[in-house]
Amino acid sequence: MERINVTQSQMPPFDEYINEIKELWETKWLTNNGAKHQTLEKKLCEYLRTDSAALFTNGHLALEAVLDSCDFQGEVITTPFTFISTTHAIIRRGLKPVFCDIGEDFTIDVDKVENLVTEKTCAILPVHVYGNICDDKGLSKIAVKYGLKIIYDAAHAFGVQIGTKGVGSLGHASMFSFHATKVFNTIEGGAITTSDAELLKRLNLIRNFGITGQESVEYIGGNAKMNEFQAAMGLCNLRHIDEWIKMRKNVSEWYRERLGEIKGVSLPEEQEGIKSNFAYYPVVFDGYKHTRDSVFDLLEKENIYARKYFYPATNDFECVKVYSCGKTPYAKYVSERILTLPMHAELTKQQVDRVCDVILEN
Ligand SMILES: *Cc1c(COP(=O)(O)O)cnc(C)c1O
Repeated sequence: MERINVTQSQMPPFDEYINEIKELWETKWLTNNGAKHQTLEKKLCEYLRTDSAALFTNGHLALEAVLDSCDFQGEVITTPFTFISTTHAIIRRGLKPVFCDIGEDFTIDVDKVENLVTEKTCAILPVHVYGNICDDKGLSKIAVKYGLKIIYDAAHAFGVQIGTKGVGSLGHASMFSFHATKVFNTIEGGAITTSDAELLKRLNLIRNFGITGQESVEYIGGNAKMNEFQAAMGLCNLRHIDEWIKMRKNVSEWYRERLGEIKGVSLPEEQEGIKSNFAYYPVVFDGYKHTRDSVFDLLEKENIYARKYFYPATNDFECVKVYSCGKTPYAKYVSERILTLPMHAELTKQQVDRVCDVILEN
């Protein structure tokens, strides 16, 4: 039986990539703000509809760099229903994560944020989880009232639009991940988008050892630069991204046709006024004839690999509990019932049917 994975990396045609990297053999300029890097930054600003974008070698280091650049100290209100990177970035920057529960759309529950604000709070780090967009208006109100900055983890939200606005224009800054498994990839990679020119300047320095000139270093920085081979992959993939998102939309519709009317199975809901990127296909099994865990096992037996994203919630990991925990009962409840089904651009109707047959006919 053919193996079906939860995701599959999108790659451009082989010749297109080879063509894109050819000139690197002439210029011998492989990293440090090369030509490909500069072009990709420009093109991403256009595509994401943001004022600026600073590229990084991966999304996680981008997130650490933005927390660093903002000089945050103290507590950061965040969500435990995310990939562990979000929580790690906070703790590794010497900050304390304060976990807020999530709402029906799995993003941070704005109604529960204000209660968690203390005199030590410096920022809110919400996640547009699965590409579902957080309540930015509600969060902004709280941020303004208490003088906090909002930094979005937009790792799942590449290309998502709110009306005509790009999701990366929300908050003080947003982090995108271009990891191989994401909707848009540069093999490994990431970016920060922001309209704060001063922050952008700092980000650009911090990703390259804080170096400002041949004989001057202005900040304590690190190395988180994107190289030219990564940027070339991004330039190629950007040419195909709209088509790939359309293909993902088809997959999402095929799932809905098969699973839409099944009691105890809740499918992802579209958010009003939001153009989705169909990054994931999270399904909640609650009151269905099989539990989430048995659906996972049944699929695995048929060589189909779904993922328990996100289980456990990050505040349930032992290495995180040492720093902080906080009670987030709804995040726990969801994390025990949710399964992300295979979702990528090249998934066929036949493959979706195979996945649905296993879920429905056992
Ligand atoms: C993938 C991901 C990250 C980390 O991005 P990398 O590019 O893999 O370093 C951070 N947060 C979330 C929610 C992610 O899914």
